[in-house]
Amino acid sequence: MSGPTCERLWFADSHQLAFDARVTAAAVDPQGGHTLELDRSAFYATGGGQPHDTGTLVATHADGTTSRWRVCDVVAHEDGRIAHRVEPLAAAGALPPPGTPVTGAVDGARRRDHLQQHTGQHLLSAALVRAAGVETKSFHLGAETATIDVDAALDDAALERALELANGVVFDDRATVTHLVTPEELARFAIRRQTFTGARIRLVEVPDFDVSTCGGTHAKRTGEVGLIVALRVEKAKGLKRITFVCGGRARRVFGEQQRALTEVARELSTAPDQAAAAVRRLCEAEKAARKRGEARFEALLPAAAAELTAAARPAGAVRLVCSRRDDLTFDEAQALARAATATAGLVVALALPEGDGAKLLLARSADVALHAGDLVKKLAARFQLRGGGAAPQAQAALADRAAIEPLFAAVATELASAPP
Ligand SMILES: [Zn+2]
Repeated sequence: MSGPTCERLWFADSHQLAFDARVTAAAVDPQGGHTLELDRSAFYATGGGQPHDTGTLVATHADGTTSRWRVCDVVAHEDGRIAHRVEPLAAAGALPPPGTPVTGAVDGARRRDHLQQHTGQHLLSAALVRAAGVETKSFHLGAETATIDVDAALDDAALERALELANGVVFDDRATVTHLVTPEELARFAIRRQTFTGARIRLVEVPDFDVSTCGGTHAKRTGEVGLIVALRVEKAKGLKRITFVCGGRARRVFGEQQRALTEVARELSTAPDQAAAAVRRLCEAEKAARKRGEARFEALLPAAAAELTAAARPAGAVRLVCSRRDDLTFDEAQALARAATATAGLVVALALPEGDGAKLLLARSADVALHAGDLVKKLAARFQLRGGGAAPQAQAALADRAAIEPLFAAVATELASAPP
């Protein structure tokens, strides 16, 4: 299908949500997807890092009946056509044929959200050039946050200066200006970003601050963008990626963080601004307690290893001790197994209950021929074990702690039947 070029109504007015148009092409693809092309549309088509609009189209057919369609995707073709992928709302009949009048309604909440993030990106990118001398390389508008990738030279202080500057322009509530110019007229403007080609080029200007070539949806006044907040900065492929939110998203994030911090402070019985210090004290106390515990364990280890070794029973050519331990961390169990298997001819199986399951540790003395990793693999299917290891020591996760004793019995059987 190949209709004529679609007039992009958001070029002139990013706040126009309702519009009338005529169908120029209609098609059903082999997968059953419906596509409508229109002579004009307010539905923004995915591009420039910004996702498409959604909304509804209502067609008035030649027989006077109407059909309602949900616009779920909007794709711009290079030749200027725009494909609206639609799904029938209620029991819509056939697709409206070319010439059918339609009325469109763009989802206003989604448009405003995208417009805030997108215009906020213009302001932040311009501020980053002015305050930090770093260029924006790419922009992506996600469902929760937006990102820009910038020169790796950016540091925290420079980002802070840029945010201060960008938010200052928001607070100025400056009117933005859209220009449609020819390539020859471009020279009149000091353009930050130029990615547009064609006979008519759309420029978006924030007076005394920024001019960019852009086909996106923009705020009428910078105040509409609302607060611009950077959430984090990460290294990404030789660049730095800034994750940010504007307007409604910034308000939501602030609310979430406020609630989270209040909850943390309440748990610590302190004020929100004291929470970080309280957590630090808690961590230090925990570290000290752990060190004391480790020292105590070290002191008790020889006796615990001797006790374990003494409990070993003959199993084939070796002696086996199986022990369910609720009193040990996994590191402690490893230390205990190491200490016990320092004596000759011993196999140690330790099970540490954890949740509904258990962690299994299997170790043997240096003179024992058993391959612990292979034995774990051999028993894996029967006991739903996940793990493995080398010859001297293996570990595995056991899904059901009720299987600990049967597993111990199976290890004993395997050792008893092993060749000496
Ligand atoms: Zn733009």
